[in-house]
Amino acid sequence: MSSQADVLSPQSKAHTAQKGSTNAAGFTDYFDLDGLLTEEHKLIRQSIRDFVKREISPSIEKWAQQAHFPSEIVRKFGEVGAFGPTIPAEYGGGGLDYISYGLIMQEIERGDSGMRSTASVQGSLVMFPIYQYGSEEQRRKFLPKLASGEWLGCFGLTEPDHGSNPGGMVTKLEDKGDYYVLNGAKLWISNSPECQVAVVWAKNEEGRIKGVIVERGMEGFTTPEIHNKWSLRASTTGELVFDNVRIPKENILPNVEGLKGPLSCLDSARFGIAWGQLAPPSTATNRP
Ligand SMILES: Cc1cc2nc3c(=O)[nH]c(=O)nc-3n(C[C@H](O)[C@H](O)[C@H](O)COP(=O)(O)OP(=O)(O)OC[C@H]3O[C@@H](n4cnc5c(N)ncnc54)[C@H](O)[C@@H]3O)c2cc1C
Repeated sequence: MSSQADVLSPQSKAHTAQKGSTNAAGFTDYFDLDGLLTEEHKLIRQSIRDFVKREISPSIEKWAQQAHFPSEIVRKFGEVGAFGPTIPAEYGGGGLDYISYGLIMQEIERGDSGMRSTASVQGSLVMFPIYQYGSEEQRRKFLPKLASGEWLGCFGLTEPDHGSNPGGMVTKLEDKGDYYVLNGAKLWISNSPECQVAVVWAKNEEGRIKGVIVERGMEGFTTPEIHNKWSLRASTTGELVFDNVRIPKENILPNVEGLKGPLSCLDSARFGIAWGQLAPPSTATNRP
């Protein structure tokens, strides 16, 4: 394969010599991003870069071709600190800043977008709402196991007839006194076929959107897999089906109501996704 020096035009080479610097990993840093990072940021980035080279890059082509989700990656992501890096350490998270989170997502995306999606969902769409809107008991019960990768989580917002317009959702949460009953379905849900925990958004009798934590094993809760995706093929995607699922009262997220709940989670996820999008161009101009 040609080196970067072979493919750059004389003008680009001159520009690179003038503007770019080569960072510790041997990558040309056209925007001098490294100048904005601390030594800790660079160490975190390097450890994830090494992890991706070791655990994802050698197999990703095969996984994508076979539409295979490598379940063992969940534990490995937990071990390397890719799940919920901004969640405080007392709940099993990394206690890191958002730049660190962005760098972690960027390095995983360098290996594969579907793998980054698995980690984004766990951190931003499952751990974030439990941390931000959950009770102290919920934080202590769910966050450490999600951080370590013992459990995989998913986020159920999109419905078969309500994707771009989530406010139109029809999944229903009914108060039965001692417990709630959940009925409805969610579609295109990342991680769902292998999840132990689902953060699900549903409307109560007043039409207000509430968040509930649904757990694998609850009667009436199933997660059929969606096959033959055209992209993100190494990530696993499915439905969430709720057929009179009995939800204990302690599984409601107590501190949020309305669309603000799911939309704030999506904001957090988009931050990581945006960092991820910087990975392909940088990889393209820095192929070893
Ligand atoms: C691989 C994958 C993983 C996903 N993971 C998750 C997940 O983990 N959790 C989750 O909740 N959801 C998830 N989604 C769902 C995703 O958020 C939805 O696909 C998205 O919100 C769009 O909804 P839709 O597919 O129903 O498309 P639609 O809403 O039907 O839109 C179809 C097209 O119409 C356009 N359109 C829609 N409304 C308008 C309008 N008013 N004006 C102009 N154009 C419009 C859209 O831009 C789009 O091009 C995932 C989707 C995919 C493909």
